[in-house]
Amino acid sequence: AEAAAVAGSSGPGRTSDGHAVKLLANVGSAKNVPAADQAHAEGIGLFRTELLFLDRASEPGRDEQITAYREVFRAMAGRRVVIRTLDAGADKPLPFLHQDGEPNPALGVRGLRVARRRPGVLTAQLAAIAAAAADCDADVWVMAPMVSTLTEATEFAAAVHEAGLPRAGVMIEVPAAALRAGDLLRAVDFLSIGTNDLSQYTFAADRMCGELADLLDPWQPALLQLIAICGAAGRETGKPVGVCGEAAADPQLAPVLAGLGISSLSMSPRALPAVRAALARHSYAECRRLAELAVAAPDAVAARKSVL
Ligand code: PEP
Ligand code: MG
Repeated sequence: AEAAAVAGSSGPGRTSDGHAVKLLANVGSAKNVPAADQAHAEGIGLFRTELLFLDRASEPGRDEQITAYREVFRAMAGRRVVIRTLDAGADKPLPFLHQDGEPNPALGVRGLRVARRRPGVLTAQLAAIAAAAADCDADVWVMAPMVSTLTEATEFAAAVHEAGLPRAGVMIEVPAAALRAGDLLRAVDFLSIGTNDLSQYTFAADRMCGELADLLDPWQPALLQLIAICGAAGRETGKPVGVCGEAAADPQLAPVLAGLGISSLSMSPRALPAVRAALARHSYAECRRLAELAVAAPDAVAARKSVL
């Protein structure tokens, strides 16, 4: 029994009847990898690369980028690492991108949109990721933030493949992208839902505005409905659709997300044990039933109650 309890707190993500939901960690650098290991993460579901670019006058050079990426890839040998290309905007301006102030940074040139202005920053980053991946055994997947259209997804996938990287995906953070998840999955290998931004853009509520927390609640049925569209597209195409926003760290929501067709949950390492335990308490059929109840609920409070 003790061995089973230990396995239950360290094994891969599974429902009680063995349906797999990969449990991954969000990291910002190699410094976070030990915590991910301690929590028995199956890999990295979101490697944010902003850290390297912040607070500096010029773009980090090729070698500096390779070193930073390689540290994480090496530590994750044999496991999946989903690395996200630079997510910068006028809300966190980078001097070398020469961004003029924007009246509405959240709606401006941020995430993948920066590549319209400065395509070289993206191609240099992809080249550095490819070089770092080349001498490591990690299973490296690359994704772009703030993608809205099939055109953007197609162009990003082409750039990733051109760099010699085999797996390209996009984040679902904009309702337009969620609505067209099926289309996007024909152009890329996987989707990862960033619920922090998807909430912000679905409810027209600034994610930093505490006063609007009720609108940003991940149990909002409208948000769950957009996630359901993505999950259904994943089931139809057989391609992975994960969640890497804050919603993935809510143990009560984990069975609902699994039931909506989500195949991986990526979160801060400290949230992993409770999410693993919550998944193991439900069969996959129960997850699907809880998902139906939550999406059909009239509001977030009722959605939360419906699964108790
Ligand atoms: C998100 O938007 O949910 C996300 C994971 O990305 P970030 O929080 O870095 O914007
Ligand atoms: Mg985001």
